[in-house]
Amino acid sequence: AKQLGGNNVQFYRDSLQASSRERLLLEAQLDKALDKGQLEVFYQPKLTLSSDRLLGVEALVRWRHPQFGLVSPASFIGLAEETGQIRGIGEFVLRQACAQAHAWQSGGLAEVRVSVNIAMQQLRQGDFVAQVAAVLAETGLPAALLELELTESQLSDNVEDVAEVFRQLRGLGVRLAIDDFGTGYSSLGYLKHLPVDVVKIDQTFIRELGSSETGGDAAITRAIIVMAHSLGLEVVAEGVEEVAQLDFLRAHGCDEIQGYLFSRPVEAQAMTELLRARAA
Ligand code: C2E
Ligand code: CA
Ligand code: CA
Ligand code: CA
Repeated sequence: AKQLGGNNVQFYRDSLQASSRERLLLEAQLDKALDKGQLEVFYQPKLTLSSDRLLGVEALVRWRHPQFGLVSPASFIGLAEETGQIRGIGEFVLRQACAQAHAWQSGGLAEVRVSVNIAMQQLRQGDFVAQVAAVLAETGLPAALLELELTESQLSDNVEDVAEVFRQLRGLGVRLAIDDFGTGYSSLGYLKHLPVDVVKIDQTFIRELGSSETGGDAAITRAIIVMAHSLGLEVVAEGVEEVAQLDFLRAHGCDEIQGYLFSRPVEAQAMTELLRARAA
């Protein structure tokens, strides 16, 4: 057992070193990744529970790396936020997602709203609202079909600044969502001051749903749905993997679900085929 423990420690050290080496490598390569066309936008559908219709998708970036294969955003978004590279990446994802949603719309498929994740650093750019307006104008996507998601944790220290930018984005007609809701803030008072349309219940609450109506996660999920609805907000549950979770969310009036149960994030082409199949 002692030997095994020693090996484990060794393995742990090696993987730590490997990951810091990999991190340096990724940082150096991330700059070129955009120019080389290695970043790709995947789409994950959301299902509207009242109608069982697919009316929205979330855009999720991936890096098709020549050595490492398809790299998850978890491996490079945090890094890109530290280095400021997130601004260029974010603008790329925004433009790509809006162009794609416009293509679906003009291709006669159901009007699908696209949600794009935004980092705090993008919102802090003085010209962010102008950038969004320009992308909408260039791509021809109606503002009402764009939703921007900001995580509650990024919001937490910046409510005043965010509120002003959100008001301007609302003025364009863009919808706004609080992502990872329920995990990132100590007080909910900010919801009164912030123009928001949607809250997305964090996956950690959804994970334990279904096993019992009385667990803490079930209680929190029910409370978020009731509170959000009384504030006039829509509720999306993400990370839905099981039928029992879907049943719970439907029974408690959740508006939309997103998760592997319905579909994983897929390439644009596969998303187009999914939309065609549902339109037929
Ligand atoms: P997020 O915005 O909370 O996105 C949801 C994540 O949950 C996605 O991971 C999605 O693939 C995953 N997911 C969806 N359904 C399920 C499920 O049923 N089970 C499980 N276990 N996971 C599910 P992904 O694509 O790896 O993205 C991770 C995070 O990276 C995102 O979390 C978001 O915070 C960030 N991210 C992704 N794309 C962008 C982007 O373009 N800009 C920024 N700023 N962040 C991004
Ligand atoms: Ca999100
Ligand atoms: Ca989320
Ligand atoms: Ca998250």
